[in-house]
Amino acid sequence: MRPAGGFTIVCHCLLLETPRGLCLVDTGFGIGEAAFGALPGYYRPLIRPALLDSEAAYNQVIGLGHDPRDVRDIVVTHLDADHAGGLRDFPWARVHLHAAEHAAATRPATSADKGRYRSRQWAHGADWMTYDDRGGETLFGLSAIRPLCDLPDLALVPLAGHSRGHSGVAVDTGTGWLLHAGDAYWYHGEVAPSPHCPRALALTQRLVATDHRQRLANLARLRELPAEVRVFSAHDPHELDLAVA
Ligand SMILES: [Zn+2]
Repeated sequence: MRPAGGFTIVCHCLLLETPRGLCLVDTGFGIGEAAFGALPGYYRPLIRPALLDSEAAYNQVIGLGHDPRDVRDIVVTHLDADHAGGLRDFPWARVHLHAAEHAAATRPATSADKGRYRSRQWAHGADWMTYDDRGGETLFGLSAIRPLCDLPDLALVPLAGHSRGHSGVAVDTGTGWLLHAGDAYWYHGEVAPSPHCPRALALTQRLVATDHRQRLANLARLRELPAEVRVFSAHDPHELDLAVA
């Protein structure tokens, strides 16, 4: 995607091997997205996605030598169009997410939420598995929801602000924790010891946030994470390069 300011940003998805099969964390845009109908209003002018089928998660799963039908579970950080587009490419998978995000997207109560989400992306009848905050668990100082059904190595870490039920996804790899922080931030400098962010990216994030102050408060908490947690966001190409290196 090419937001204002001459930047290129990515949709960083994870593919996990679990005892149940493969699990995707976020799905990016889907196959045929360009022909799938209009994106929500701000995408074309503010985000300018390329919508290349070759980059769709479905084709990348095949490219890694896997059968897409082995993707049995999907965990989404939230349901914006650049995270939920691939849901329809894996209609057999269970879709895990925060209950508040599911409610905001499927029963939008405000005009902003009505314009934000693209219900056609789950019109195939997604097999939703929703979770709320009532567990009282914590992970590295952040509240956490776990296990996710029968996926004991995964947890949702509520990080609202970008959207109502936006959550990070924590993964216990056996040798350390990953935290996919979704759209809690877009630029690696935002979680650096001396935080910084290019002005155009900061402004765009502010414009698309449901609650800007809440996003900033959660961002401050991410800066406090212990060094052994490997945190990365959905859209930073530098962090994606580090992950695939
Ligand atoms: Zn996003």
